[in-house]
Amino acid sequence: MAPANCPMGPSTRALHADDALNVVSDVAPPMHVATTFRYSDNPDDLVPVADLSGYDQEKTTHIYSRLTAPNPTRFEAILSSLLNGEAISYSSGLSALHAALVLLNPRRIAIGNGYHGCHGVISLFTRLTGLQKLDLDCPAEQLEAGDVIHLETPVNPEGTAFNIQAYAEKAHSRGAYLIVDGTFAPPFLQEPFQWGADLVMHSGTKYFGGHSDVLCGVLATQRKDWARQLFQDRVYLGSVMGNMESWLGVRSLRTLEVRVQRQSQNATSLVSWLNGALHAPSPAPDSDEAVVQRALEQVFHASLQKEDESWLLKQMPRGFGPVFSITMKTEDFARKLPSKLAFFQHATSLGGVETLIEWRTMSDATVDRRLLRISVGLENWEDLRQDLVTAFRELVEDK
Ligand SMILES: *Cc1c(COP(=O)(O)O)cnc(C)c1O
Repeated sequence: MAPANCPMGPSTRALHADDALNVVSDVAPPMHVATTFRYSDNPDDLVPVADLSGYDQEKTTHIYSRLTAPNPTRFEAILSSLLNGEAISYSSGLSALHAALVLLNPRRIAIGNGYHGCHGVISLFTRLTGLQKLDLDCPAEQLEAGDVIHLETPVNPEGTAFNIQAYAEKAHSRGAYLIVDGTFAPPFLQEPFQWGADLVMHSGTKYFGGHSDVLCGVLATQRKDWARQLFQDRVYLGSVMGNMESWLGVRSLRTLEVRVQRQSQNATSLVSWLNGALHAPSPAPDSDEAVVQRALEQVFHASLQKEDESWLLKQMPRGFGPVFSITMKTEDFARKLPSKLAFFQHATSLGGVETLIEWRTMSDATVDRRLLRISVGLENWEDLRQDLVTAFRELVEDK
């Protein structure tokens, strides 16, 4: 057990925040596959459901796996510590957003472009409740008490960041709530509660899972009443995480900080090199810089938001998200680039240890067709740079 009252760093918490739930001698947490758990053999310990609040029960006691189970409970214990709020896990990022909207049931939601799937969840609510969508930057007067601002930051697909504090102040000035979808900047990179978020959402499928093999979602809140309601709602929504997924999730969280730090550094190094090459004054003909300038149109990433540094360096003091986007000179270049790369796999999703690139129009109908999204993995960034330059060269030489 971790010593009490001892402030621990994030990696220590990722390895020990679930110590109290470790009721076996196994060093590696076992996977529990049971859906149902025996009640106590001692009749005096039996508590009928009418007298029981599942939310307050001992975290090592389980009844039925739609309520709680050992592996998801350990996953949530670690995330509660890392996110600085009580974490509730779900079967996917979108089922977490669904649960957030069931909790708050807003009449209006202000939202930007961002991840297209979140708009799909909102349209379900529009059908059921008449939920009205507003522009993210709508005048504050359009928001009323109980409404929601949904801020995705850094935002999909560009990887550029928004000022959480400014949106929190705007929401709170109207009695509305701020949900932050922080999927692109997991803990250590960004702490949304510190800047006024009411609810933090993550697609855990991305960095929490981190190995492209777990689908899950997470909500975190610092309000006990909300945590209790979310827990009770999830019993009836039924959107719990599977045992296998949460077992993999615990395995993955142990290395979250080192993975994300390295991925963030890799991404920032690549972005800085690409953008430097793109803007190099009169490069020598046939140099790498000249090739970049013939192939590439623009680079998007929070590290390039020089005009926002006054708030950005406060809100993301330890580095920027590991996802960035580029636009190519032509749609044809964008379509062909993935086929010319050795270390970037052409696939959707992000956050895994392996670098992915996606011609984003393959899965999002709303984006510029010249845009590619890159999720930087753990390869050595110099190899990724070389791979990109070689591919750009082949494109402009039409090989
Ligand atoms: C992937 C993603 C989601 C949806 O998560 P799922 O786990 O796929 O349901 C939501 N928001 C963002 C920013 C995402 O990247």
